[in-house]
Amino acid sequence: MGARGAVLYAARMLFRARARLNAAALAGNLEALHVRAGVPLLLPVKANAYGHGVAQVVQATRDLPAVWGYAVAMPLEAAEVAAMRPGKPVLLLTPAAPDEMSELAALGVLMSVSTPEEVAALPPGARVHLKVDTGMNRLGARPEDAVPLGEALRARGQLAGVYTHLAGADVPDLASARAQLERFRPVREAFPDVQVHAANGGGVLSFGRLPGMTLARPGLVSYGIAPDHLRDVLPLRPVLSVQARVGAVHTVRAGEAVSYGGLWTAPRDTLAATVQFGYADGYPRNATGHAQLMIRGERRAVLGRICMDQFMVDVTGLDVRPGDWLDVWGADSVHPSDVARWGGVAEYELLTGIGTRVERLLDLP
Ligand SMILES: *Cc1c(COP(=O)(O)O)cnc(C)c1O
Repeated sequence: MGARGAVLYAARMLFRARARLNAAALAGNLEALHVRAGVPLLLPVKANAYGHGVAQVVQATRDLPAVWGYAVAMPLEAAEVAAMRPGKPVLLLTPAAPDEMSELAALGVLMSVSTPEEVAALPPGARVHLKVDTGMNRLGARPEDAVPLGEALRARGQLAGVYTHLAGADVPDLASARAQLERFRPVREAFPDVQVHAANGGGVLSFGRLPGMTLARPGLVSYGIAPDHLRDVLPLRPVLSVQARVGAVHTVRAGEAVSYGGLWTAPRDTLAATVQFGYADGYPRNATGHAQLMIRGERRAVLGRICMDQFMVDVTGLDVRPGDWLDVWGADSVHPSDVARWGGVAEYELLTGIGTRVERLLDLP
């Protein structure tokens, strides 16, 4: 991640694809979510900030009052964010193994704990958030075990927060999410003097303010993508625009086939641009046959099988030349949710699948 980014940076003239992060759009989304949640945000920046570039996202958000701190999934990510000295807390959302704890504590990373064994292994100076499993069944202490665990942590002076994670806050039926919040209630009421958080992006959009909370953890929606049925709750804007360069432009004659397997045959002479972006860069291979690009204001079909490093697109009648940059998706072109749908993947997968050959750029206002 960081090291590789630094190496690639030296060769940035050679990138053939880039993902531009619109800092103004991100700040606007975060402020809207801050207002809706009624509490500041513990911004998830796991998986290279949902593919947006963790260095770029931290740089764009470190001075925003809407952002209280950063949440990550892996110790490496925690160390990477801490090394940026963001001036804000970093919470590791997964359990730290005993042999990872001293380094994380030395970096000042907040750890998540949910078992007596983890508590016993904590180095003296470490500060933690107690994770409570209220129904996701992924990580966390059961609510009845969480209160004594939290009391033990409080006695050691190490309890900085309590939290849970909702398994169904982004669906129309919120019954299971409500039941989870109800199971969490006695835990948060037992620890009124620490940080308390539960809502992911679905939770913030579905519920708005929740009683007793001091933070919220909206991820995908911070980056401007909301579930269909929640799209009208807030005016969120996609933050990332992906662009790729044209390698070649050529005419496909009527009756000729394009790409692996010859899945598409030209019904008439067709001008095709070969775009240097493939499934290794994050374009879903299964979008073959459905994919489109917005070129010069027109929607144009991707022709035939999407390859590892390239795909072909119909540019008949358009002035497109080798070396031109085309929008692959973004706020002003094709919506990332459309690309995800064509590919049969979730938006989470689309964004976290953006490859290392794609330069991450930060567009400041
Ligand atoms: C990833 C994650 C989030 C953010 O979820 P979104 O669905 O992207 O809003 C919040 N909390 C935890 C524990 C997570 O793992």
